[in-house]
Amino acid sequence: MSATRSAVAPGSQTALRRANKQRLLTELDAGTSLSQATLARATGLSAATVSNLVAELERDGEVVVTHGTTNGRASRLIDRHPERRPLALGLSLGTKFARVAVGTGETVLDVRSEDLRSPGQPAVLQEVADLARRALTDVGGRLEQVSGAVMALPAPVHRGRIAAVQVPAAWRGVDVVAEMSELIGVPVRVANDANLGAVALAHHLGTDAPVAFVKWTSGIGAGLAVGGAALEGGGGMAGEIGHLTARRPGGRVCRCGRTSCLESVASVEAIRESASIAVSEELDEAGLIARLQAGDPVVRRVTQEAAEALAEAMGTLTVLYNPSVIAVAGPLVHYVPDLVDELRLHLRRAVTPALEQETELVLNPLGGEAEVRGALRVAAAPERALLS
Ligand SMILES: [Zn+2]
Repeated sequence: MSATRSAVAPGSQTALRRANKQRLLTELDAGTSLSQATLARATGLSAATVSNLVAELERDGEVVVTHGTTNGRASRLIDRHPERRPLALGLSLGTKFARVAVGTGETVLDVRSEDLRSPGQPAVLQEVADLARRALTDVGGRLEQVSGAVMALPAPVHRGRIAAVQVPAAWRGVDVVAEMSELIGVPVRVANDANLGAVALAHHLGTDAPVAFVKWTSGIGAGLAVGGAALEGGGGMAGEIGHLTARRPGGRVCRCGRTSCLESVASVEAIRESASIAVSEELDEAGLIARLQAGDPVVRRVTQEAAEALAEAMGTLTVLYNPSVIAVAGPLVHYVPDLVDELRLHLRRAVTPALEQETELVLNPLGGEAEVRGALRVAAAPERALLS
């Protein structure tokens, strides 16, 4: 509730008191226990005022005060009451599983994932909603406390609308935003998963510099964060490096209709197909990874060629945005981490020496939780809205 909406005349003692209480609550909404001294410092209020207001807030059930000792001295720690604190929901829908995170501004209270029972079908929305409700219940939260929910989708999203032109047949006519909001019972916003991965990465690294989050999965895409917010671009397609042209002999038709898109030669799916032909055996993704881990020289070579094409695209991204960090995510780098060295080697050749020194290419430090953590972060703080 905003103090400016109050019926009390602005400038009155009551209005001031209410505004000051709200400032204390805003500090506590981030989710960490704070001492009265810290609250005084953070709000600029005097220690006596904080002490008075905290007593009132405790009486009203808004905060909980714990008495303890810090360095041998008696101390009071203030927390938001668990049933009053605003909660946020981060949701992530991948091709094979759903993930959910519940938290307050800075604190992640619960992250969980589940394999989808009906992958590729609109019924997965119900599965995501069920998972979210269970996570919320397990942290002792209620739906009324949820101030925001954001869902990460593997599709271009612009200002909350899914901008994909190639919607799979099963999803045609499904209004994902309306359906998801209805199923969970709170308004849900959607955002591109790689963009949210970039938001989480920037937060994890504690940087405002541009960072890129590259997904090397059954498709290829990159998300960019600048100043901690995702750069969506004019139509939600900034960073869609999977559709950069990668001139390779025998370029295939991409799902976008073009030939020689990076994705059609270097996605995990394209590697799997090429490797299957090369070894005269139909490999699935697990089989591909097993061969790479075992050091199969033919499968390794197929993957190296793909890595080279991907690194060239990362080079373009690096020249355009000069990211301080590029994190690569996906099953191949996760299970065969030395492929990151391969990417690094080729990226070095794709950019100038000066850029190369300024750009760190790393394995995604957040694992599978990057996207859902980014979603939670944007849900908890709408001011971290995506830049478009
Ligand atoms: Zn394409």
